[in-house]
Amino acid sequence: MSTIYFDNCATTRPYDEVKDIVINTMTTHYANPSALHSAGISVERLINSARKTIADTLNCKQDEIIFTSGGTEADNMAVLGVANAYSRKGKHIITSKIEHHAVLDCFKHLESNGFEVSYIDVDSNGVVDFEQLKNAVRDDTILISIMLANNETGTFQPIEKIRSISKNAIIHTDAVQAYGKYDFENLDVDLISISGHKIHAPKGIGVLAVKNGVKLSKISFGGGQEAGIRSGTYNTEGILGMAKAAEISYNNLYRDISYLRDLCEYFKTQLISKIPDVCFNGENSVNVVSVSFPGVRGEVLLHTLEEKGIYVSTGSACNSKSTKISYVLDAMHIERKLAESTIRVSFSVFNTKEEIDNAIDVIVQSVAFLRKFTRRWGSKWNRLFYLN
Ligand code: PLP
Repeated sequence: MSTIYFDNCATTRPYDEVKDIVINTMTTHYANPSALHSAGISVERLINSARKTIADTLNCKQDEIIFTSGGTEADNMAVLGVANAYSRKGKHIITSKIEHHAVLDCFKHLESNGFEVSYIDVDSNGVVDFEQLKNAVRDDTILISIMLANNETGTFQPIEKIRSISKNAIIHTDAVQAYGKYDFENLDVDLISISGHKIHAPKGIGVLAVKNGVKLSKISFGGGQEAGIRSGTYNTEGILGMAKAAEISYNNLYRDISYLRDLCEYFKTQLISKIPDVCFNGENSVNVVSVSFPGVRGEVLLHTLEEKGIYVSTGSACNSKSTKISYVLDAMHIERKLAESTIRVSFSVFNTKEEIDNAIDVIVQSVAFLRKFTRRWGSKWNRLFYLN
């Protein structure tokens, strides 16, 4: 059975060029870059060149790049590191209600340790309430962390405007879902988190970009790599693989953005022409369509599609095993029943309109089938699938 992979917010298929680099690195450049001998030094040079490549895509300097194990670690380092480093100046910190758990749970941890947190609302399109954010900023606010693009709806946030209202606060953005789909040329923030596996690089590699002059308390201890901020032997394969993926992505940025937007528009128009009562959630996304099918459980639809070789998600991959409704859709005040009827379809440059046509046929049949059963069996049908 041929498969269609529409779950690119969860993770992406690595580029062939990335696979080649990873294999070549493991075969040839396996020396420890911290070693004093020439084999190590030549690997260190490769890492520095990768650092430069990634720094260029983020419009920052080479020495502002810290390699991490992924987006989660980058977010943790940013939020906990800034909060601890600046806690003498104030204990007020701000985030939004729709952040990824990698950010949100750090704020909850800080809240239970004496910090005061303002959680900013979003509107029905999933856009952070900028007025509320502006009013929340105080003289003792030390950190504002707002994501660039949301992982469930793809909605981009007005990050460019934050500097003008931030007073003394340090600004962090979780750009994990935006990286490769956004031009960082004019973005003025202090810290940026990104992750390799969302841009066709391997899993287990990410970056925290930290503007020179911004203080960061370290949250891990060891051999003193990355200027002592992030210890641990370098993941050379991941770093070189991520730099290759970043180079490919940013060489084709505007072409890819318009290709992905076009796929989203095509998917939406085709779907609505065949199932007119679908509802789309969020706005201004590059590669994500969050769509609700009234009368159908998202989870059941996901598994029905999976049987036909089509892979989508119900929410973000990291929380899709939870039975609770998505806190992102909840924050957007999407009605509970509709939120439960939602799937997330996310595209990459490997996807095509032909795949969309094939998937839409299957979605249309599956939705009609599931609706028929729900009408006939009502709650019994639901109980069959859900133990609660
Ligand atoms: N932030 C966002 C917005 C994400 O979507 C994800 C992963 O889905 C992460 C952070 C965590 O990144 P990683 O999987 O690299 O730890």
